[in-house]
Amino acid sequence: MAQTVTEKIIAAHLLDGTMNPGENIAIRIDQTLTQDATGTMAYLQFETMGLDRIKTDVSVSYVDHNTLQEDWKNMDDHRYLQSVAAKYGLWFSRPGNGICHQVHLERFGLPGKTLLGSDSHTPTGGGLGMLAIGAGGLDVAVAMGGGAFHLVMPKIIGVRLSGALTRGVSAKDVILEVLRRETVKGGVGAVYEYFGDGAASLSVPQRATITNMGAELGATSSVFPSDSVTREYLEDRGRGDGWIELSADPDAGYDHIIDIDLSRLKPLAAQPHSPDAVAPVADIAGIPVDQVVIGSCTNSSLDDLAAVAEIMKGRTVAPGVSAGIAPGSRTTLLAADKAGILGELIRSGFRILESACGPCIGMGFAPKSGGVSLRTFNRNFKGRSGTADAQLYLVSPETAAAAALTGKISDPALLDFSKPDTREFMLEGLALAADGMLIAPLPPEEAARVAIERGPNIKPCPVPVPIGDGVSLEVILKTGDNVTTDDIMPAGAKVLPLRSNIPEISKFAFARLDENFWKRAQEAGSSIIVGGTNYGQGSSREHAALAPMYLGIKIVLVKSFARIHKANLINYGILPLVFSDPADYGKIRQGDTLALSGIHGFLEGNGSELTVTNTTKNESYRVLLEADTRDRTILRAGGL
Ligand code: SF4
Repeated sequence: MAQTVTEKIIAAHLLDGTMNPGENIAIRIDQTLTQDATGTMAYLQFETMGLDRIKTDVSVSYVDHNTLQEDWKNMDDHRYLQSVAAKYGLWFSRPGNGICHQVHLERFGLPGKTLLGSDSHTPTGGGLGMLAIGAGGLDVAVAMGGGAFHLVMPKIIGVRLSGALTRGVSAKDVILEVLRRETVKGGVGAVYEYFGDGAASLSVPQRATITNMGAELGATSSVFPSDSVTREYLEDRGRGDGWIELSADPDAGYDHIIDIDLSRLKPLAAQPHSPDAVAPVADIAGIPVDQVVIGSCTNSSLDDLAAVAEIMKGRTVAPGVSAGIAPGSRTTLLAADKAGILGELIRSGFRILESACGPCIGMGFAPKSGGVSLRTFNRNFKGRSGTADAQLYLVSPETAAAAALTGKISDPALLDFSKPDTREFMLEGLALAADGMLIAPLPPEEAARVAIERGPNIKPCPVPVPIGDGVSLEVILKTGDNVTTDDIMPAGAKVLPLRSNIPEISKFAFARLDENFWKRAQEAGSSIIVGGTNYGQGSSREHAALAPMYLGIKIVLVKSFARIHKANLINYGILPLVFSDPADYGKIRQGDTLALSGIHGFLEGNGSELTVTNTTKNESYRVLLEADTRDRTILRAGGL
């Protein structure tokens, strides 16, 4: 039977289930990645499995989120991560080496392989023709231990690209166009698969920009074919022997196909505060800009930096703009130096930040209060920059550079510039990057002698208490639509160092919505959260499930869930229920008491509908649990 690229990779890794969209399947995982914010918990969980060594082909522990050394806490975490990597056979990417997705693309990603990462932008790897999926740290720990990854067989949405990008228009505009059409909910339960001559015309970093931001569509993943462009990219990085050709069969079937003519695209921007609030840059031109930031795992390849340098050539950053660059990897930084790009950026007035996530999560380079920030990143949720009332726009490096130059939102297509060929410089950067920032796994006998370093900031992973058969729970919080994992468990310099200390980090849960949430929840003992649509959108951050679990949340009842967050709730024993009739959401108030009975029998069976009684108002609602047998077993046990 004719197959898409996605179906070919899944078929080659299928351990259980049939590949019909919507059915539960289990696949084998070849590679894993973690970043520090999710990694410490994933490795604490891995340690509990009692294994001597990881069972994946390649697993890498990256430190990119919290590289600030304000006190001992981050250093404790970094040393823990480094010692765990040494003991269990992982690669370790030191702080400052780069952002996990960029470094993984450059150093480890391979077409046809599966990659599971405890970070929602893991699908960046799809730019190399691999099936790369973001998941909670616990799922990644299980995969490192040789366990299957369970998911719903996605539907495959084809994106047929034709034509070629024109001056001033970039890969970022392609994914912004997909977001404009499909919205942040369009990709739930789907993989976006790109093909056509337009796809063939894009470089691997351009493809990776598109697959990276497929996460904002809510998609399971995004993938490009593996072709001669992929082969050249891998050969340049000394990994040509891992290349395989991979393309969809000519008559492969897609759920539906989206057509985009690259030659007709114009520069686009996602306006505050959602990645799908997309408008043509020309329509919003003239808005004064206070901050411009280039970087993140979406747009920090050498070509991205080259485009910015070209636009800035011989000119300077406008006086009213604070401009910064966080190169995606140290390799890119070295190549940018060789190419003269770095010098041009420094000369023109850009601040050079560390090769890390930094400003993407409000660390170390926040905009002024109420300021307008143009960023080449993938997320513009309110407050993510570290400044609660800043206006965040997501744009291409070209549009960001045009704003740095003019001090206002400006259409880069109107500027006169051309991009240089950077391949030779990238090769020089790669040659220089064979370094001590990426530490290889130790042989098993040496690894066995490693002692794990566990400072006082490393607390044990709390163990959930299974839900009772009958419960009566206060609605401790009622939220609106599109609550993000940032809303549930914020990041930032104050919170991130507490990632391995659940009692302390839980005090920040929902702090943006209600700073006393944690106290009220703890006092209630057990409680329930009620929410709107797309609850838990955003990231794989499992602390957004762990902290509520620690605070006694037993059930989250919403209109709909974002995929990864729902899986994380199940992993931590929290019942994820959805309203059978979304109109019932409006009938419940914060402070009401909701009762359920017969929960254990319900979880043992395979029925999907339950009745919830609002004892405050004396009314009942039908609610649904969409969970397979494995999920139900996990929920009965109180967590994975
Ligand atoms: Fe880092 Fe931002 Fe990318 Fe997340 S989205 S991995 S915080 S750069």
